[in-house]
Amino acid sequence: MEALRFQVVGEAFKKKPLDVKAPSERPCEYFGKKVFNREKMYKYLPKDVYEKMVDVIDNGARLDRTVADAVAAGIKQWATENGVTHYTHWFQPLTEGTAEKHDSFIEHDGKGGMVEEFSGKLLVQQEPDASSFPSGGIRSTFEARGYSAWDPTSPVFIIDDTLCIPTVFISYSGEALDYKAPLLRALHAVNVAATDVCHYFDPAVKKVTSNLGWEQEYFLVDEGLYAARPDLLLTGRTLMGHDSAKNQQMDDHYFGSIPERVAAFMRDLEIQALELGVPCKTRHNEVAPNQFELAPIFEETNLAVDHNMLLMSVMKRVARKHGFRVLLHEKPFAGINGSGKHNNWSLSTDNGVLLHAPGKTPEANLRFATFIVETLMGVYKHNGLLKASIMSATNAHRLGANEAPPAIVSSFLGKQVSELLDHIETADKDFLAMAGKQGLKMDIPEIPELLIDNTDRNRTSPFAFTGNRFEFRAVGSEANCASAMIALNSAVAEALVDFKKRVDARIPEFEKKLAGTEHSAKFHAIIDVLREDIKTCKPIRFDGNGYSDEWVIEAEKRGLDVEKSCPKIFERYLDDASVKMFESLGVMTKKELEARNEVKWETYTKKIQIEARVLGDLSMNHIIPVATSYQSQLLKNVENMVAVFPVDKAEKLNARNLKIIEEIAERTSAIEKGVEELVNARKLANKIEDEHEKAIAYHDKVEPKLDEIRYQIDKLELIVDDALWPLPKYRELLFIR
Ligand code: ADP
Ligand code: MG
Repeated sequence: MEALRFQVVGEAFKKKPLDVKAPSERPCEYFGKKVFNREKMYKYLPKDVYEKMVDVIDNGARLDRTVADAVAAGIKQWATENGVTHYTHWFQPLTEGTAEKHDSFIEHDGKGGMVEEFSGKLLVQQEPDASSFPSGGIRSTFEARGYSAWDPTSPVFIIDDTLCIPTVFISYSGEALDYKAPLLRALHAVNVAATDVCHYFDPAVKKVTSNLGWEQEYFLVDEGLYAARPDLLLTGRTLMGHDSAKNQQMDDHYFGSIPERVAAFMRDLEIQALELGVPCKTRHNEVAPNQFELAPIFEETNLAVDHNMLLMSVMKRVARKHGFRVLLHEKPFAGINGSGKHNNWSLSTDNGVLLHAPGKTPEANLRFATFIVETLMGVYKHNGLLKASIMSATNAHRLGANEAPPAIVSSFLGKQVSELLDHIETADKDFLAMAGKQGLKMDIPEIPELLIDNTDRNRTSPFAFTGNRFEFRAVGSEANCASAMIALNSAVAEALVDFKKRVDARIPEFEKKLAGTEHSAKFHAIIDVLREDIKTCKPIRFDGNGYSDEWVIEAEKRGLDVEKSCPKIFERYLDDASVKMFESLGVMTKKELEARNEVKWETYTKKIQIEARVLGDLSMNHIIPVATSYQSQLLKNVENMVAVFPVDKAEKLNARNLKIIEEIAERTSAIEKGVEELVNARKLANKIEDEHEKAIAYHDKVEPKLDEIRYQIDKLELIVDDALWPLPKYRELLFIR
């Protein structure tokens, strides 16, 4: 067997049997074992408290202090029975990860001993010393500290010996410092707006829920190899590395069989995730080597977001137990696919209707058309903002490449739904009235009920209709889905509010027109508005190849946002239309949006800054020394040839080495020059005070240098002796043994 240049941790795992046998219990027995779910609430809470909690969770009722105390007592009992000693408020700051600060239950008992305590007050509110979380200046300007407040709609759970309480994180003046607070506000807004519209079709609807089913893609690399790649360790991606001769060109990884070591990791991960209430359902290989996917059954959006955050952190822990590292970066390797997190999104009513699914009756299909068209209206109007909601320094590497959705938001509907909308738009304006006195008869074509498996799939579309939901595919693997969900649910809420206003205004006019017939003025008004909207939002509909160059030109003509620069894309959050939408729905104020953008720009700058430093260091102390030392070996060899052979023979024999010696000299000096320019570009950018301008300078002036340097290093990788090359290569990183 070929000698390994680096210590592969997996080798050790192969020798010892993996202790990850599936437990004797079945998944449905351990599902939610570590979650204070309804079943546990029922068991551990007095009946009236249980009922109150159900009302809080299902109907958003207010929670008073006495109830909180009783809930805390029940939670504490359950937690201590499960060996818990600490608790933490678990929140989602703007840094993408989750944050927690653990406190133990113990308190002085006043008699020299200790008691374990957990009151409603501690459950409901906490003040993490959070001055180091990014807040874009909100906190320093308005209040020194923020506090976290319990979100009773997402159940508490146990990790090891700690009770985790999902919370929002806000400043004392009420501004959101996290993702959850605006998400809950956006979900409320879409509930209110969609419920109102549902009443045209079914007055019994009480509530509309936003659903999210995410599909988490990720890479695994061996822990030993990971440790030998400072770039992976510090930036989450490889800043250099030549293509492996074999990568994904054979398409043999996708849906192939899962390597044994990986399968063991997946089983272990799923057990732990299921215990935490994450309803894991699907696992498979992805397109790139070492790339995999996990998808749960969809859930209410707030809960689904929490579960995704939880899963990402559990994944990292479990991977290490198996000698792996998980890479959640959107583009850890150049030349092969990156990772995304498709967000399958839909709305459903409390009486079980999926609003983006076609129905059996004309009314149901009119409702279906309404929700499809108004979703498109929201996405069309705010296409730039939606792109901003999924954009990041890391996801920017994936968008626009020939694999992921392009950096233009458009929507694919498939043939049947497109035909339905075209039909509504172009049919004779009076086709409804012509139905005579037979009551409601709408000329809405039938749609096969189950589109899910036969909607012609268009993998290049960033926002595709897939039968009973939309799939927002541009979301990055590392991202908090909340960002996309805040923008999408708000955009659709706004469209629905506007739709209802226009329909209501037109009903009287149709009442007059249709007096004496059994036609419904309401439905006619709806169709009238839909026709208008189908025309308006047409530019967002695109069923062609989203990867093509022609699409960029065409999209620009249609007035869609085609900006590619990440810091500039963030500007969309501050467009008048965005501010107006967020403010009118009560999701975020202008002040919050401004503060959050500061954080986005600052984060962008820091990420590129770190990459630039790491690449500069690696170039100077890993790559150049090794290349130069190989060059010296070659030079020695050239000298030896001259010593041994007659001049003209030696000259001939040395030709190849001399060429390589020269190439190394040229490339190392290009790298050196590149690093110098990189440092200078950084220094200049660092002088800029304004975060927005600074991020733009990092994008325009610093980032391009990274690619120039990398190009030279990757060429050197091909000519320098393999035994000397200091970093694990792609072919080593990408194929799990
Ligand atoms: P794909 O074929 O797109 O890879 P998967 O089965 O891997 O599909 O994942 C689809 C995801 O979409 C799952 O999380 C699934 O639960 C979710 N999903 C299915 N129907 C809906 C719906 N109506 N609303 C939201 N999510 C849904
Ligand atoms: Mg999918």
